[in-house]
Amino acid sequence: MSRAFNFSPGPAALPEPVLRQAAAEMLDWHGSGMSVMEMSHRGKEFMSIAAEAHALLRELMGVPQNYKILFMQGGAIAENAIVPMNLLGGSSQRADYIDTGEWSKRSIQEARRYGSVNVAASAADTGYTTVPPRAGWQLDPGAAYVHICSNETIGGVQYHETPDVGSVPLVADMSSDILSRPIDVSRYGLIYAGAQKNIGPAGLTIVIVREDLLGRSLPCTPQAFDYAVVAEHDSMFNTPPTWAIYIAGLVFRWLKDQGGVPAMAEHNRRKAAVLYDYLDATSFYTSPVARDCRSLMNVPFRLPDPALDAAFLKGAEERGMVQLKGHRIVGGMRASLYNAMSLEGVQALVAYMKEFEARNG
Ligand code: PMP
Repeated sequence: MSRAFNFSPGPAALPEPVLRQAAAEMLDWHGSGMSVMEMSHRGKEFMSIAAEAHALLRELMGVPQNYKILFMQGGAIAENAIVPMNLLGGSSQRADYIDTGEWSKRSIQEARRYGSVNVAASAADTGYTTVPPRAGWQLDPGAAYVHICSNETIGGVQYHETPDVGSVPLVADMSSDILSRPIDVSRYGLIYAGAQKNIGPAGLTIVIVREDLLGRSLPCTPQAFDYAVVAEHDSMFNTPPTWAIYIAGLVFRWLKDQGGVPAMAEHNRRKAAVLYDYLDATSFYTSPVARDCRSLMNVPFRLPDPALDAAFLKGAEERGMVQLKGHRIVGGMRASLYNAMSLEGVQALVAYMKEFEARNG
């Protein structure tokens, strides 16, 4: 068996010890005689698995007691609708959105179906290579919430601090940087993330919501997607994605064993620095993103001529490095460096990039 260095943007690499443990427990979880996939979600075995996953996530992220953690389905694209459905049924039907790239654009488009959307700032004028400076945001003090995408997975643009939006609840799509660095959850009204990058298999969506924001849903909200209903049933209103929750729990335990989120943040900084330092030193490859907005999770870069892309990718694959092709919207390459990517993986990538440059530069 050989494991590739997998630079996929998601579904992405998972920690090998987690996969090994899941394999060992596949047929018989803890003497139950069942695979986790075969268990009733209301049985004591799975209830204990779900409770531990909830508790570990609360501990790892320091989620305050006045926030609910919900395990849902539908992914971040579904949340683009579920968030406005849940937050625009109160006294305000207006929401502010910050446009930093492809994923914010998707969020904006979807929210427009449910209420009045104000794009309070956009990075379109920089070709989505920056986060618009906070000072220029045209916020609506009467908005129900302000929405940001903390890390644009396609463009490789990341917020390096939580923006201050006053008393209006801040909502963040953290699909591609949740658990990659410490954040102060109390600065947010709501956080959502698909699991398939830093947490586990696709199929699980994490929602962390401040309790006072519950009960503001539009009448059209399906019950299974109404945060208040999901919270009231401890994320068991309908059958939750049991297998994905189990793997997420193993990943949370692995993360805790690594030293928790602060240790992971340090690891992620070191990894990203290996790649960015090289990108800054070479004139062969280019990084399109403004330095102070560069993502530590998704690093897009370009070769001097797109005609070289196929050869670059082929050589990478021959050396056991996979899924480096950039998103079709931006082209070029993209290396995703989520928590489970090792420093050795990034070092191997940079060694190969140098070799390719020497041959083609
Ligand atoms: N938002 C961000 C930031 C993402 O990276 C992605 C997936 N790449 C999505 C939303 C969409 O997630 P899903 O396909 O799970 O709905």
